[in-house]
Amino acid sequence: MLRYRAGLADMPRYDVVERDWRIKVNANESTLNMPPMVEDRLLGRLAQVAFHRYPNEQMDLLREQIGSAYGFRKENVIIGAGSSEIIEKVFHCFGGSGQKIVYPMPSFSMYNIYAKAAEAQGIPVDLEEDFSLDVRKFIDTVNREDASLAVICNPNNPTGNVLTLDEVEEIAANIACAFLLDEAYMEFYGESATKTLLAKYPNMMVARTFSKAYGLAGVRVGYMLAAADIIRMLEKAYMPYYMNVLSLVTADTVFQMRYEYQPRIDMTIAERKRMQEALSEIKAIRVYPSAANFILIEYDKAKELQEEMEAAGIGVRCFASSPRLKNCLRISMGTREENDAWYALLKSFAERNG
Ligand SMILES: *Cc1c(COP(=O)(O)O)cnc(C)c1O
Repeated sequence: MLRYRAGLADMPRYDVVERDWRIKVNANESTLNMPPMVEDRLLGRLAQVAFHRYPNEQMDLLREQIGSAYGFRKENVIIGAGSSEIIEKVFHCFGGSGQKIVYPMPSFSMYNIYAKAAEAQGIPVDLEEDFSLDVRKFIDTVNREDASLAVICNPNNPTGNVLTLDEVEEIAANIACAFLLDEAYMEFYGESATKTLLAKYPNMMVARTFSKAYGLAGVRVGYMLAAADIIRMLEKAYMPYYMNVLSLVTADTVFQMRYEYQPRIDMTIAERKRMQEALSEIKAIRVYPSAANFILIEYDKAKELQEEMEAAGIGVRCFASSPRLKNCLRISMGTREENDAWYALLKSFAERNG
């Protein structure tokens, strides 16, 4: 009998079904690979890499560059293998036995798993019927529970809805514990807390990723901005040289050339608007408003629709394990052609099945 750590066998898994999709709109990835100009620059830089050295220099360079773009210093930036890793470390650092971590539900399903892994008590705050967050209820829960960490995903995954900057500030101004904003989809919304709030509230942390708008899901790089003393504490949770040089140089090149990505971000936003309008013409389907690169729909025949899409090689995300999302599907925005393809199937299904 192997003696695993207590609780490990009962840890929930991140449940996604992956196969070789013809149209892959299930994971909120960018549908486009790296722009050729960025790829050219990257390949040139990779040819210069000192592969035999630990990547101190590349880590410092990326932190410096990201920090200064937001008006901060490199001491205010931590890099991770995806923002997932950073978020997991934040839960670890503010977790431990007796600590409570508050987050909305439904939101990113990993929060629940990270809370468990950190041996903290996860306290979900239910979203309202339309998936909006009752900010007052959230604040009251954080304070009543004497939480060590409050987490908000803005725009929220998988529902797509947002908090305004005023609402984010209302939370920040009324809680005393650490406050993590997960802005994985912020490029598709634009109301980032990094603009003014982060400098004003020293308990605030803002996590961003290269995986979505910047199409580097395979490279695994994210970052977080926060007060230097928070970053210093988080660094203690990492091993030395935890980032590899290939990822660091890739992220650095993409960050330098981030303006090259604006057309595709604009395309995604335009497609989201177009598909929201098209979907709202189908009476049997409820379309939730979204400021991200995906749309959440609710349909009483969601399961059957998903099976038909799957049979046609179209991968969308369903949430079998979450009661509030039972009849919901989340569809990431693809190219115009990809979106037309899944929409045609969806429309024909609804016409046949009501
Ligand atoms: C995708 C995502 C992330 C980050 O993903 P990484 O690939 O690990 O950077 C973080 N939070 C949410 C809510 C996401 O959807």
